[in-house]
Amino acid sequence: MGVLDIVPAGVLTGDNVRKLFDYAKENKFAIPAINVTSTSTANAALEAARDIKSPIILQVSQGGAAYFAGKGLANDKQQASIIGAITAAQHVRLVAKAYGVPVVMHSDHCAEKLLPWFDGMLEADEAYYKEHQEPLFSSHMLDLSEDPKEKNIEICAKYFKRMAPIGLWLEMEIGITGGEEDGVDNTGADNASLYTQPEDVYDVYTTLSKIGPNFSIAAAFGNVHGVYKPGNVKLLPDLLGKHQKYVQEKESGSDKPLYLVFHGGSGSSKDEISTAVGHGVVKMNVDTDTQFAYLTGIRDFILKKKDYLATQVGNPEGADKPNKKLYDPRVWVREGEKTLSERIKVACQDLGNVDRL
Ligand SMILES: [Zn+2]
Repeated sequence: MGVLDIVPAGVLTGDNVRKLFDYAKENKFAIPAINVTSTSTANAALEAARDIKSPIILQVSQGGAAYFAGKGLANDKQQASIIGAITAAQHVRLVAKAYGVPVVMHSDHCAEKLLPWFDGMLEADEAYYKEHQEPLFSSHMLDLSEDPKEKNIEICAKYFKRMAPIGLWLEMEIGITGGEEDGVDNTGADNASLYTQPEDVYDVYTTLSKIGPNFSIAAAFGNVHGVYKPGNVKLLPDLLGKHQKYVQEKESGSDKPLYLVFHGGSGSSKDEISTAVGHGVVKMNVDTDTQFAYLTGIRDFILKKKDYLATQVGNPEGADKPNKKLYDPRVWVREGEKTLSERIKVACQDLGNVDRL
């Protein structure tokens, strides 16, 4: 039995998202969440998923969503981030079915100051729900990890009460992911907050599970966004096992009751990844490594063909030779899509997310 026996191809919503994550947990694999910033990067991710027969998670960050709509648009009230996120979701909704893969369409970190972005996406979800009986997106992340725990949980619960009835999944963060990504700078975070404690995770679980079952927790275990030289922050994925055990004992419920999310996964070792997946990580964010992968194909192509790209006409083969077949963006951007797609396949392999359909 594969994923397509459980959920359909295309963007998943409601209980289908949980069914996918349950299947991943039971079969000890996780699904990479790829940050996309354009139709080009989104298509490359879908192509990778199709080629290796895997479900995939696509996500837009607040900055990535603004880029999706165009850097030329004003974003002082998050209007470009709202429109861009909606555009991305609509594009993915249209093409995902054609690629034949199940997709979780997600929005990444939303800090308190960015809540107008969240509100805008939620309004779009509610409008879509009225017409189609499901939300536009599959899920959204709220990241109030900089706030005190009580306030973090309170705001998450408030939003989750609005999200659960229309079939939206909520991802929340407790504890802090270190480093810097997309304008969120936690490089100065103190060490204790980089490791979430089981009691804190349980507080999240008890509050949110009263509202609905469709939520996941990004608990910090020394994660850092970006790729850096090894520092003094150590990744402790076994901490995730302690969270699962703590909740299981308190609730005397099932093994691995939590859906966990791995942030800042770029540069992690295969051992660290498989330990995390073994402890119920169902989603791992991949951004830094795929950004670099997208560049490499374009960079190598341009460097290799630079004598053919300096002018529209004229190259080493003759002064009258046209270069149109090389400077067409479908040629050089495509090279980036190929290397991005290959890197996403590697991310899937690292997580055991291959031949799952
Ligand atoms: Zn993150």
